[in-house]
Amino acid sequence: MNVHETEKLYALFELSGIAQAENAENADIIIFNTCCVREGAETRVIGNLGIVKKLKEKKPSLIVAVCGCMTQQKAVAEKLHKRCPFINIITGTYKLSKLPHMVNLIANGEKFIMDLETDLTVPCGINEAKRSDNVNNFVNIMYGCNNFCTYCIVPYVKGRERSRRKNDIVEEVRTLIGKGCKEITLLGQNVNSYNDGNYNFRDLLDELSDLDGEFWIKFMTSHPKDLSNDVIDLIAKKEKLADYIHLPLQSGSDRILALMNRKYDIAAYMEKIDRIKEKMPDAGITSDIIVGFPTETEKDFILTEEAVQKVGYNNLFTFIYSKRTGTPAAVMEGQVPEETKKERIARLIALQAEIANKKAKECIGKTYRVLCDSKSDKLLTGKTASDRVIIFEGKEALYNKFVDVKVTQVKNSKLYGEAVN
Ligand code: SAH
Ligand code: SF4
Repeated sequence: MNVHETEKLYALFELSGIAQAENAENADIIIFNTCCVREGAETRVIGNLGIVKKLKEKKPSLIVAVCGCMTQQKAVAEKLHKRCPFINIITGTYKLSKLPHMVNLIANGEKFIMDLETDLTVPCGINEAKRSDNVNNFVNIMYGCNNFCTYCIVPYVKGRERSRRKNDIVEEVRTLIGKGCKEITLLGQNVNSYNDGNYNFRDLLDELSDLDGEFWIKFMTSHPKDLSNDVIDLIAKKEKLADYIHLPLQSGSDRILALMNRKYDIAAYMEKIDRIKEKMPDAGITSDIIVGFPTETEKDFILTEEAVQKVGYNNLFTFIYSKRTGTPAAVMEGQVPEETKKERIARLIALQAEIANKKAKECIGKTYRVLCDSKSDKLLTGKTASDRVIIFEGKEALYNKFVDVKVTQVKNSKLYGEAVN
């Protein structure tokens, strides 16, 4: 989401006549579009600000702005201002479209601007985006989240759910396809609850999948409580809806899921997984897991390992629970010691590596349609509809094309193959 938001910022600044610099040393303006979902992201911003401070000492006219979720938290923004007085602009997630104006004010002599006001009147924020040359293109379908999982800061910094109008999304996707784009990833914190007042997520997918052209649609993130059978069945039916679902489980223990306020239990989750596997035997399923949520015992963690084993994910994004100030979980009793969290995440990563390797070997001899999305010196990389990566030899001209590739071998869980058309 931040990558795409930054693409929008580039577009916005270009409209004001400000072009992208080649590197930080050449820049007149440096903007940090921050994330605060986990502590690690916040720590990185502080580290990078240290480097920028030195640049600013050399070039005092340099304008430094920090925006995004991290600075949407008032206490963090104020602390940052005190700690880094060289920052010229501090704003949050709602005023991105005002950034060029703020930069202009600073360039004209103002010393410091802080604007953390919430602004939900413009549901679509900025619509233009200067997309990179990547094969995959992101399209926002909704903003914010209503779920309040007890560990998560997102609803506090991004506000409540608001969906873009279906017709606006369809037009954006149609334009991208017209420009030759072949993979579109729809973005939202909880895409399954998309609703613009007239149309729901299934309606949106249905219409997008009927557009002309050779492309496929992926999306993230699905919340297990809201992923409907209707949507699963539609993906199975429509060729342009890629058979790939990122379905974050977070934990395999019902007790922990309830404490997380996830509103599903493991049985309900497995029902969705069974339906996906039944309708799309080749579907790619991936997940997010948090280890070390407050009070998580060895027994709870074993339940997570069992669930991971049972589903057999293609890929797993594993996170150590990170305390986020202002969320209910941050003040829960029974915080898990760091060493225990580290030990558990290492076990989970090892388990997933084993599963991924086994699943990769099952692909040998099979032919997949892949979208070639990266090229380097004879070796091309493509992604299947199930979001598996296959490396194969071929001409650069295959870049951004659909190619049939037969998997010939597996090395360190990586698939290698050869183009067959
Ligand atoms: N809306 C999406 C993703 C939100 S953030 C969803 O509901 O799945 C992406 C992932 O970050 C989450 O799925 C979760 O696994 C992780 N995450 C969020 N808050 C966290 C925290 N406080 N500590 C560790 N991981 C966290
Ligand atoms: Fe955070 Fe839960 Fe919303 Fe995802 S669904 S953004 S994890 S509160």
